[in-house]
Amino acid sequence: MQEISVLWQQILEKLELRVSSVSYMLWIKTIKPIEIDEKDNLILAAQSVSAKNQILRNFIDKIGDCCFEVVGKPFKIVVLDQNEEIEYLKNNKVEEKNVSANEEKNPFVEKFTFDNFVVGKSNQFVYAAARTVAENPGKRYNPLFIYGGVGLGKTHLLHSIGNYLRQFSPDLKIMYVTCEQFTNDYISSLYSPTKNKAIMEFRGKYRKLDVLMVDDIQGISNKKETQEEFFNTFNELMLSNKQVIICSDRPPKEIATLEERLRSRFSMGLIHDIQQPDIETRIAILHKKSQLEKYYAEDEVINYIAEQVDTNIRELEGKLSEVYFLATLSGKKVATMEEVEDIFTNQKEEHKNELSPDKIISVVCDYFNISYNDIVGKKKNKEIVEPRMIAIYLISEILNLPLVNIGKLFGGRDHTTIMHSRDKITEEIKFNKKTQTLVNEIKKSL
Ligand code: ADP
Ligand code: MG
Repeated sequence: MQEISVLWQQILEKLELRVSSVSYMLWIKTIKPIEIDEKDNLILAAQSVSAKNQILRNFIDKIGDCCFEVVGKPFKIVVLDQNEEIEYLKNNKVEEKNVSANEEKNPFVEKFTFDNFVVGKSNQFVYAAARTVAENPGKRYNPLFIYGGVGLGKTHLLHSIGNYLRQFSPDLKIMYVTCEQFTNDYISSLYSPTKNKAIMEFRGKYRKLDVLMVDDIQGISNKKETQEEFFNTFNELMLSNKQVIICSDRPPKEIATLEERLRSRFSMGLIHDIQQPDIETRIAILHKKSQLEKYYAEDEVINYIAEQVDTNIRELEGKLSEVYFLATLSGKKVATMEEVEDIFTNQKEEHKNELSPDKIISVVCDYFNISYNDIVGKKKNKEIVEPRMIAIYLISEILNLPLVNIGKLFGGRDHTTIMHSRDKITEEIKFNKKTQTLVNEIKKSL
């Protein structure tokens, strides 16, 4: 196989002829080729979440075509955003494959430190707890359970704890895994030809730690055996006063099918959420990012972005880098409102056709021929209840909104009611052909 960079260069040359020059400079040129894996996936990294979305929406087919022309066989194109790239490189050891003679590498992202974390009302409590834990692992707040929406800094905090411990307590054995890694690790020991030995090794690895961090624990729902194993690992560590830190996109009570005993273990320590940052914090984060990454922008630009992007810090940073990048294209050293206008009006156009909860609700209403007021209202007859549950299921599955927010859309229903509806349909789809067909049909018309 040719060197990926050579290959990518050839693909670029073809792409340049097929997309507008602005699109080329802004979206295509900024793609970083990572590798072609064993399954013929061409792995690419975009520089932000919104860049990734743009690429998926507008260029993915063209990239596939050009790739086919260059290599002569089809590839599946996979686009990662910044964080997924970090994860990917870590999980697949691409660097080790490409760069030989690797020193013991820092498993933590170097920039994810306490110093680089901007503290505001939304996160000060969690920040303080994370710091306490880093300074005195196993002594207080054990376990520490942090939850909050996507892109609000949970992983950043875990890595900050890791970086801090590496520096100040280098003798401690620390491990950071995502729930998925933990699961895969466990499953591969179960299916190893030397199963018993592999399981012993697995247990040895996890239970001898001083600090265990598990990110995105919500992924453990529905994995009964992994829950069992995690429960035992967890107990073992707690018994010997070792620190456990867990992150999740939702509180324990909203993780469906989480065993009660795990749920109650999680509440032995401290459970706290990280909230959406207020405007002052968003501005401060952008200033910090601008210094760190040398993405220079006028204050007005920073204020504008901070006003527009209010729910996800990863998006917030992504916007700043896009705006700055666009400025550099025209030879500027500092981004101005001109670029902001370009980027934001451009994207408004593209968001027009995007799926929203309202869109889903109205498609479901049309399908069953019922009214909006009924579907979000209180009626309990079957003709309304089923469509309502399907709408809830679809919103939860497709848009991945927090249950509490979905509850608000449906006349302020409690999150447990929402969870029940979602799980009911999930089950029915598995066992009831009729529901399955129904849901698929609605999905198609979305
Ligand atoms: P999560 O794990 O909650 O989805 P991340 O920890 O991956 O979110 O954060 C997303 C991005 O936002 C990262 O680049 C991170 O550095 C940045 N970020 C989040 N919170 C802050 C903060 N308070 N200060 C500075 N950067 C932050
Ligand atoms: Mg994360």
